[in-house]
Amino acid sequence: MRREQFESFKELLERLSENSPFYKNKFKTTEVSIDDIKSPEDISELPFTTKDELRDAYPLGLQAVPDEEVVRIHSSSGTTGKPVIIPYTRKDIEDWSVMMARCFQLAGITPLDRVQITPGYGLWTAGIGFQAGVEKVGAMAVPMGPGNTEKQLQMMMDLKSTVFVATSSYALVLAEEVEKRGIRPQIHLKKGVIGSERWGEKMRSRIKNELDIDIYDIYGLTEIYGPGISLDCDCHTGLHYWDDFLYFEIIDPVTCKPLKEGEYGELVITTLKKEGAPLLRYRTRDLTRLIPGECPCGSPYPRHDVIIGRTDDMVKVKGVNIYPGQIDELLRDIEGASSEYQVMIRHINGKDEMTLRVEKEKDSQNNNLRDIIIDRFKKKVGIHIEAEVLDIGELPRSEKKSARILDCRYQ
Ligand code: ZN
Repeated sequence: MRREQFESFKELLERLSENSPFYKNKFKTTEVSIDDIKSPEDISELPFTTKDELRDAYPLGLQAVPDEEVVRIHSSSGTTGKPVIIPYTRKDIEDWSVMMARCFQLAGITPLDRVQITPGYGLWTAGIGFQAGVEKVGAMAVPMGPGNTEKQLQMMMDLKSTVFVATSSYALVLAEEVEKRGIRPQIHLKKGVIGSERWGEKMRSRIKNELDIDIYDIYGLTEIYGPGISLDCDCHTGLHYWDDFLYFEIIDPVTCKPLKEGEYGELVITTLKKEGAPLLRYRTRDLTRLIPGECPCGSPYPRHDVIIGRTDDMVKVKGVNIYPGQIDELLRDIEGASSEYQVMIRHINGKDEMTLRVEKEKDSQNNNLRDIIIDRFKKKVGIHIEAEVLDIGELPRSEKKSARILDCRYQ
């Protein structure tokens, strides 16, 4: 931890203990006093913040400033339980747009670019966050919002959009549609900024190749500003994050002990500058690692790796932990297997059974795909599974996050 970061961290602790009812209460119930935090090593003594606590604070229990300083709220989707509401001050909104603009600049986006924004606007942080970054850079925003592929493609052609922002699933929908209609020559896209869900190398290369564009992975979460807290650069060796605004730690999701740089575990984020709803050691449930050393691109900002899964996507089958990221990696090395797959886990006759359903690439001549997948899975992950090979397009596509693991054991 750099000295300036530790200074910001200590200022944050003071602000929390003075202004945040949520943290005042939390500090009261833990044994650690903020005066005990004298060096960066002491940070691991501080309590974590969890998503459940954020839900329990619904609606505005996280607010750490007087009402007149709150200028906006955003909310995470409430698909599983109560939503989390995050209040923002004017400075929070400004800081977020600075981070987003850094992302776009790292991706080489200039005032001459036209950026088609396909994620949703509204309570969700995505659309409006991207918009603020585009305007800060001085490029032209084309604020489409989600869905309506017909209109997306029409605007893309008529307005000559050079960049598009999308989730990876929707980017795939667009890429497949462009190819199907043979309209690539009328499309002026050069770059895609793709984010908000974990995705494999194969999916990335399909989007990249079918649209013939450069792709940049963007990361973020509503609880911590929104998208735009990190982006991968042209070297594609990890995502640079803005360590003047955020402090990243990696912990073992089971023991909660800090892990060394380079080791995979759960990402924990502290917001160093946030005012409206500052968070201390927030457990993101995203699995990644911090990448040691400097990036060849010369950026002074540190890097984390792509998100390989979520702690709650991790499923235990026949006693073995399985992450979606592992499956992506496995399929990447199998000739003829596409990036699209779905896992079905059932409990049959007292035993777990896992079936991996994979779409086969259009022109692949690999007729042993099923056996190869079963064999490779056994060798790499250590358990026997069933496999099913499907044609391209047979698995459901989604404009939102794809459900890749269907665990039907406990329903
Ligand atoms: Zn770099």
